[in-house]
Amino acid sequence: MTNKGKPMAQELPVHASVVVIGGGVMGCSTLYHLAKSGADAVLLERNKLTSGTTWHSAAQVRALRSSQNLTRMIQYSVDLYGSLEEETGQSVGWIQKGSLSIATNENRLTMIKRQEALAHAYGIEAHSISPGEAAERWPLMNSQDVIGAVWSPEDGRVSPSDVCAALIKGAKAKGARIFEDTGVTGILTENGRVRGVETARGTIRCDAVAICTGLWSRDVGAMGGADVPLLACEHFYLLTKPIDGITGNVPTLSDHDSHLYIRDDSGGLLIGCFEPMGKPIAPGVLDESFAFGLLREDWDHFEPMMMNALHRLPPLETAEVKMLLNGPESFTPDGAFMLGETAETRGLFLGCGMNSMGVAAGGGAGMNLAHQIVHGATAYDLSEAEAKRFAPVFNSVEHLMARAPEILGTHYEITYPGRQLKTARNLRTLPLHNRYEAEGAAFGQFYGWERPLYFHRRYTDAIPTFNRPPYFDRIEAEVKAAHEHAALFDPSPFGKIEVTGPDAEAFLCHVCAGHMGRAPGSVIYTAMLNERGTFESDLTAQRIAEDHYRLFTGTAAIKRDLAWLSRQKGGFDVALQDSTETYAVLALMGPEAAGIVSEAGAPELNELGYFKIGPAHIAGKHVRAARLSYVGEAGWEITMRAENAPAVYEALVAAEAAPAGLYAQTSMRIEKGFCAMGHELDGDVTPIDAGLDFATRKDGGFIGAEALEKRRETGATSNIVSLRFHDQSAVPLGHEPIYAGDRIVGQTSSAAYGFRVGAPMALGHAKGLEDGQVVQIDIARTLFDATVVKGPLFDPQGARMRT
Ligand SMILES: Cc1cc2nc3c(=O)[nH]c(=O)nc-3n(C[C@H](O)[C@H](O)[C@H](O)COP(=O)(O)OP(=O)(O)OC[C@H]3O[C@@H](n4cnc5c(N)ncnc54)[C@H](O)[C@@H]3O)c2cc1C
Repeated sequence: MTNKGKPMAQELPVHASVVVIGGGVMGCSTLYHLAKSGADAVLLERNKLTSGTTWHSAAQVRALRSSQNLTRMIQYSVDLYGSLEEETGQSVGWIQKGSLSIATNENRLTMIKRQEALAHAYGIEAHSISPGEAAERWPLMNSQDVIGAVWSPEDGRVSPSDVCAALIKGAKAKGARIFEDTGVTGILTENGRVRGVETARGTIRCDAVAICTGLWSRDVGAMGGADVPLLACEHFYLLTKPIDGITGNVPTLSDHDSHLYIRDDSGGLLIGCFEPMGKPIAPGVLDESFAFGLLREDWDHFEPMMMNALHRLPPLETAEVKMLLNGPESFTPDGAFMLGETAETRGLFLGCGMNSMGVAAGGGAGMNLAHQIVHGATAYDLSEAEAKRFAPVFNSVEHLMARAPEILGTHYEITYPGRQLKTARNLRTLPLHNRYEAEGAAFGQFYGWERPLYFHRRYTDAIPTFNRPPYFDRIEAEVKAAHEHAALFDPSPFGKIEVTGPDAEAFLCHVCAGHMGRAPGSVIYTAMLNERGTFESDLTAQRIAEDHYRLFTGTAAIKRDLAWLSRQKGGFDVALQDSTETYAVLALMGPEAAGIVSEAGAPELNELGYFKIGPAHIAGKHVRAARLSYVGEAGWEITMRAENAPAVYEALVAAEAAPAGLYAQTSMRIEKGFCAMGHELDGDVTPIDAGLDFATRKDGGFIGAEALEKRRETGATSNIVSLRFHDQSAVPLGHEPIYAGDRIVGQTSSAAYGFRVGAPMALGHAKGLEDGQVVQIDIARTLFDATVVKGPLFDPQGARMRT
């Protein structure tokens, strides 16, 4: 139909199952996958498709990422981009010329070799090559200071607009509808659920909304009542006119020590950077009129990068500059994107905050987002990108303005173990923060909380390293204190949830796989599973009364767990309350802990059985202590009101308990073989794979019970094993491949030095290993022997913690 020769604007539907907002690569990919799975989906773009960030992307697609599933996700993008042309007839401009990562210092070399080792575990081709071979692959490069390189032949790049065109063509062929020039002005919600979207052209009722609005997602999220902590930064690449020596396409040169990536573009060069500190763009500066827009060139800001580029590529000296492209891209507080349903609003999903990997990730991220909308979960665990992982405090403009530019810079930083961010710190401090500060604690940030990592001397000026850290002996001293005397850990940032009401037990029996019916006064360790029988969370519950449980969950899990629990609550007469900040927890652990509680005025705690809780008074303050241990020494996790923590702490320290930090705790946890969410446990792992089936109810009646029963019949797909290294100089960090002969059979998940066992050690997922077998662990391409132990390396019977 036409109107005076112009096509008539298509009518907006009154209803759709899913509305995707935003027509960049994330929106197009999500729409494509929704349409493919048969969902009735529409995409609304307020300007034209790709007009936000996508159109000017450098569009490098580099598959290797920090985790197996992120890598798997990008590999999916590569396969999808490869097949779209055949499916739709629309080329995506895929150019596969590989990438060359060079190192100019030993630590960078270690890092790229660690990546190479991981590539082998993930089935990606990557090879270490000599500086000479690197120079042959990139003849224009000055390779004088290059000490090593890794060659990844499978990497490539696409044309971002063509990828979107192909995705849209594919989506339309499957019935999806696209509306350009249709901005969303409001998101309708009812009782915490999405009901529709408002636009200048009318309202669409819908069951789900996917926010794929790039740097504008914080504002769009707010329309639906959700926090979306991201902020745009200026992001640069230089384009030159054609230069001699560039004929056809060349590999991408990754010179991360110079903060640069370099490749050909139309016979010239494209030189992109992740400078150490980016330039933030305040919210509101880029409004809806910013379509196919660019920001002002900033040569002063780019100059240090230009100097680096001139060093690396001498022919640049005489090259003519075409332009210094400056485009906006959004960054999140931790450098990973946000994917999945928001905690605040049901049916409101995020696919944004792409941290300059939106084109590489787009295919796989869109598939996973569509999968979650249609099937309730991503196709595999993507907890790094969990939409509910940020503390609300991170949504502040002030903190985002400080953090986002630092995150841009971390992109090409060496990923040293224990690396801490410098901006947006001290957002949440423990009740004992000042005291810890005075004790010389070094702090690390977790879910906004500042937690002591180790005590008594801060090595703030020490050069970071992949070898033993300078504070190694500090950790040793703290482990020794816990093992020989008594140490005081501070797990106050644990998420805490009060579950109260007449149906408290029935509700927790429904949502948890553990023995939740135990009598008041009990502590219950339990898995919280999803329908697939895999971990949503693992937690300990203290049953305080018939109708009152207090759940202790991971520091970063509180938002996600609360949302999960609230969503299962229908029909049960229970109330849920987040009490994380109301209570502090001090964990007193070690052989002298018994004497210390007596001296501190609470001898009755010695009468408590293992996994029991009891009230007491310390320094005149009411406490509730749970007899259990996360470090394998006898003691109590003592809960008190936050304002009473200083008095209780003083009393325990006066009785000779020594403060200890997170690093000592982690080392002791690994020695004990205790699994942790995000390391050994995640949404791909069942309690059977994790060796935790002893803690599940075999008579079922909880979410995930059927799936778990099936897994019990088929058996674990892999097992968690302990690994004890033979060589004292090995420094495993986690994410290292495990070899049995020449086969990769698994990967480490947590690692540390074990002071009580006197060796470097790790936990890992592996298939088909025997107790006592010697395997090899690939740390930065050096193979280290380690003995497999099925069970804990330290005190396997748990005698010490039960005494
Ligand atoms: C200089 C530069 C180089 C880059 N290089 C690479 C690279 O090499 N590899 C890589 O993978 N990534 C790279 N990126 C990042 C990548 O381009 C982005 O991550 C990606 O394009 C983001 O896509 P998106 O769909 O999330 O957002 P966008 O492309 O910005 O799309 C969001 C869309 O939402 C629309 N929108 C906003 N609000 C509304 C509303 N209320 N209603 C309707 N529509 C709305 C906007 O108009 C926009 O079209 C680069 C980025 C830059 C800036």
